[in-house]
Amino acid sequence: MRRGRRARIEIPVGRMPTQVMVTLPVRVVHGAEDGVRLCVTAAIHGDEINGVEIIRQVLDLLDPADLAGTVIAAPIVNVFGFSSHSRYLPDRRDLNRSFPGSRKGSLAARLAKILMDEVVDPCSHGIDLHTGAAGRMNLPQVRCDLEDGEIRRCAEAFGAPIMIHSRGPGGSLRRTATRAGKNVIVYEAGEVLRYNPAAIEVGVQGILGVMASLGMIASSRDSSVEPVSSHRQKWVRAQRGGIVHIQVELGERVVNRQQLAVISDPMGECEYLIRSPGDGYVIGGITNPLVNRGDAVLHIAFIDPPAPIEPDMPAQIDNGFAEGSGALRLPVDPANGSVGPSAAAGSSASDGSNDGHDA
Ligand SMILES: [Zn+2]
Repeated sequence: MRRGRRARIEIPVGRMPTQVMVTLPVRVVHGAEDGVRLCVTAAIHGDEINGVEIIRQVLDLLDPADLAGTVIAAPIVNVFGFSSHSRYLPDRRDLNRSFPGSRKGSLAARLAKILMDEVVDPCSHGIDLHTGAAGRMNLPQVRCDLEDGEIRRCAEAFGAPIMIHSRGPGGSLRRTATRAGKNVIVYEAGEVLRYNPAAIEVGVQGILGVMASLGMIASSRDSSVEPVSSHRQKWVRAQRGGIVHIQVELGERVVNRQQLAVISDPMGECEYLIRSPGDGYVIGGITNPLVNRGDAVLHIAFIDPPAPIEPDMPAQIDNGFAEGSGALRLPVDPANGSVGPSAAAGSSASDGSNDGHDA
């Protein structure tokens, strides 16, 4: 492919029962200069549409004449689930548990294999875009192997408010590609089947930030704010069934034993408190207030201690970030509630596939 050009590619995946050919849409922006090859993928879970819009906006902003390297974008990887508003493939398989895939396996395995061969393998770096699972809302966050220097550098350049250390579930694109030596990060933000403007904005700026750090485009912003990192997270669960009234916002800083939510019965005759299991930040929560005993309600990230100044000095959890602010940085307008557990409604209950460790 010639430099300084865009290309539209439709890769055949298979026929529907109606005989309509389903294709994997891929867009390539080939820069005028040599450089890094970056793949960007979205809607591996077909109902996670924020990433589709993020890629649309990024592709619109890129000019091949000003680009060094190549962007390979697959904005709708699970084309079947996307069409039916579903996380899964038609046989209920989870595509993000099906990597690296195979030529002779299930539809999920074949689609995973196509994505690996045609989109991921040609690239050295990748960004995979997700949202919370159904019934969940996520604070914009990057998940990746923070122990890997180059991957951590990309995560920091993305500039989401928080970086979560995780190598990803077995069979996920992230885990598989990272093991194959690719520098892959996952961006998780917002909820399914809805555009969350703040989540999209952080995502668009994040991809451009990573591209700038890789020398693909001119720097797009000043990165004066450093994201915090977390190696440990915990879902706080309902100790009994009822109706949850969440009293904290996504991104809010909470302290040990702080009251996070109240579970009441429909008549308001009895109340049970949910308290924080430690000092941390709220990074996810449910959108449906009706819970059963044991349901996950809020996701708390415990922040990594800063590196001690003296080798012998014990690290202080609270040092060095967000002093006095009480919340992680987000371009959120509280009035329109575009990010926040209290803002959402109408989602179905959790599919129970996991506890928000979605990607
Ligand atoms: Zn996902």
